Amino acid sequence: MVVTAHPDDEAGGFGGSLRLYRERGVETFVLCLTPGQAATHRGGAQSDEELAAMRRKEFAAACEILKVSRGIVLNYPDGKLHLQDLYRVVCDLTLYVRQFRPHVMLTFGPEGAITGHTDHSMAGVFASLAFHWAGRNNRYPDQLTNGVQPHRPQKLYYATATFALPDRQPITLPPVTATVDIGDYFETKVAAFKAHKSQSPLFPLFENHVRQRGRQEMFHLVASVKTGPIALETDLLAGVQED
Ligand SMILES: [Zn+2]
Repeated sequence: MVVTAHPDDEAGGFGGSLRLYRERGVETFVLCLTPGQAATHRGGAQSDEELAAMRRKEFAAACEILKVSRGIVLNYPDGKLHLQDLYRVVCDLTLYVRQFRPHVMLTFGPEGAITGHTDHSMAGVFASLAFHWAGRNNRYPDQLTNGVQPHRPQKLYYATATFALPDRQPITLPPVTATVDIGDYFETKVAAFKAHKSQSPLFPLFENHVRQRGRQEMFHLVASVKTGPIALETDLLAGVQED
């Protein structure tokens, strides 16, 4: 389960891993908090509503390319996740965790990943709390009806990198603890990003940066049901127990 802020984050931040693990038979679920209606690049849209509708379709097309099992775009306001009621947003996310029942969750760290976007920071904060609270029967107990049960995912990762974007405010990234070799799915990831046609002015910048990074996606293990010293990983499912 991947929790993001904007349509295109799923491809740019997690696309290679989403496609790779789907190929390995893993069910994948992307939950995107906003329809990206505040984007600078508007693809000719005349209003926020029109842009939101356009970007929902682009998200669905990208999910198709990445063969995501289930992709959902919620309706929180783009650019304003830090102004939302934390307890309410985490309530929404916790219910999705309890329904989808992921073994592993991926999101951004509180630094906001390489772009440092406040929405990325907040998506990571909300998702981290949902990760920790979904398994406790004393958090949002009202949800625990009609077959909804607490669910404790086994691992939480933040997307990270070993470089910073030029000409931006400094960010302090979490150290890399897991490096996933995405192989030829690198091209699938680029194709999924380019499904976000309204964001086409970003394509050269994106492609330049991902090509420099190569065929790897990097993550930081934040929490794990297995305690003990951290191990460097090449597989996000390492040590994960099947139900
Ligand atoms: Zn984003």
